[in-house]
Amino acid sequence: MSYVDEVIELVVKQNPAEPEFHQAVKEVLESLRAVVDANEEQFRKEAVLERLVNPERQFKFRVPWVDDKGNVQVNTGYRVQFNSAIGPYKGGLRLHPSVNLGIIKFLGFEQIFKNSLTGLPIGGGKGGSDFDPKGKSDREIMAFCQSFMTELCKYIGADTDVPAGDIGTGAREIGYMFGQYKRIRGVYEGVLTGKGLSYGGSLARTEATGYGLLYLTEEMLKCNGKDINGATVCVSGSGNVAIYATQKAQQLGAKVVTVSDSTGWIYDPEGIDVALLKEVKEVKRARLTEYAAARPSAQYHEGRGVWSIKCDVALPCATQNELSLDDAKALVANGCIAVAEGANMPTTLDATEYLQKNGVLFAPGKAANAGGVATSALEMSQNSERLSWTFEEVDSKLKNIMVNIFHNLDDAAKRYNSEGNYVVGANIAGFEKVVDAMLAQGVC
Ligand code: NDP
Repeated sequence: MSYVDEVIELVVKQNPAEPEFHQAVKEVLESLRAVVDANEEQFRKEAVLERLVNPERQFKFRVPWVDDKGNVQVNTGYRVQFNSAIGPYKGGLRLHPSVNLGIIKFLGFEQIFKNSLTGLPIGGGKGGSDFDPKGKSDREIMAFCQSFMTELCKYIGADTDVPAGDIGTGAREIGYMFGQYKRIRGVYEGVLTGKGLSYGGSLARTEATGYGLLYLTEEMLKCNGKDINGATVCVSGSGNVAIYATQKAQQLGAKVVTVSDSTGWIYDPEGIDVALLKEVKEVKRARLTEYAAARPSAQYHEGRGVWSIKCDVALPCATQNELSLDDAKALVANGCIAVAEGANMPTTLDATEYLQKNGVLFAPGKAANAGGVATSALEMSQNSERLSWTFEEVDSKLKNIMVNIFHNLDDAAKRYNSEGNYVVGANIAGFEKVVDAMLAQGVC
């Protein structure tokens, strides 16, 4: 049995009931076959893959808090510190009822390669809780965040582990967590990113993941003789990534015709009104039915359906496994030329393969959505030098990073005879740097 297959089998055996983690490991290791086979003897001897798939450390903790009725609620918190070969652990905190250890591990594992691809000195980690922020009062959110940080603060720090936002963790939650960290640890340091501008946040961090997704997509299309300008785009989700992906796509001359949330989706043939979407989602924190009610050209549909709409470019920006094989078939049948993942692992493995086999350009999330973590690393740099850069400065660094990421993965794919396979390219390019650093640091 090949080394790759052995390790995949081991991961499934050692981590039962963690299907998302198995899926992420399988996707990464399968695409690393060429580079692993070429170095098999050394990698086996050094147990490179076994070390890579085992987090350096993982924490699971109780998060008790008091709701508005005076009742005690208990959630579970997680932080997985996956790999620190190239820098302090870095990765978001997800607050969603679906969160469990397997999901945090899948995200943390992917984060290693994504962070490496940015070219910045950040290792891979991820955390979160099964807490559901939906429908909670501000006071309840604060109570949860303070309790969560009371435990988490023992394991993180500006030079060890720097968490950020993710699904359910926005500026409000980061603010409450930062306040609690400062209070308990007594230090004012860049321990979290995604902070408000008045206390160490970076301009353009809010926009970074969505904008970065479009910078990479634009470059991928350009290098394949195509153009984002004039393209029809389907976006899923209506959170942070989706909103700013929609905004930048429109700035680049594309027309975005869909967005969605966990209950339904919008088809707006006139093009999504970003200002209205921001008002509904960022200010009122309401459902998309409110968008439809205020916009005569918009049609609201219950359930899923974004990928049934004809488009040139599809940008899944909601959550994992939201673009299935059937969705991929519909996209291909409708002439879609490119899919770039704004969310983490939104496309199932069989859907990815189908898209690639049918000539659709496919940019995996670990490259395409790396703009968020890259700008988080820029926030860390600004915190370290106690300076703030302008929006334009951060945005132009972000654009350079995204364009470089695309060329790195394009080059890596070509070096291993997989031209145009950006999944292989992203995994190899991310892997090479991490493994080089791991081997240089000895057995640790
Ligand atoms: P938000 O919480 O801001 O938005 C998530 C969006 O996805 C919402 O519209 C939400 O709808 C929808 N959604 C969530 N779960 C489901 C589900 N099970 N089915 C259908 N829709 C769902 O998160 P972000 O925009 O920050 O993150 C989106 C994705 O991008 C995630 O995969 C995240 O890991 C990834 N990502 C985010 C980065 C960032 O900087 N924010 C950086 C890199 C990756 P509803 O409001 O109804 O829940």
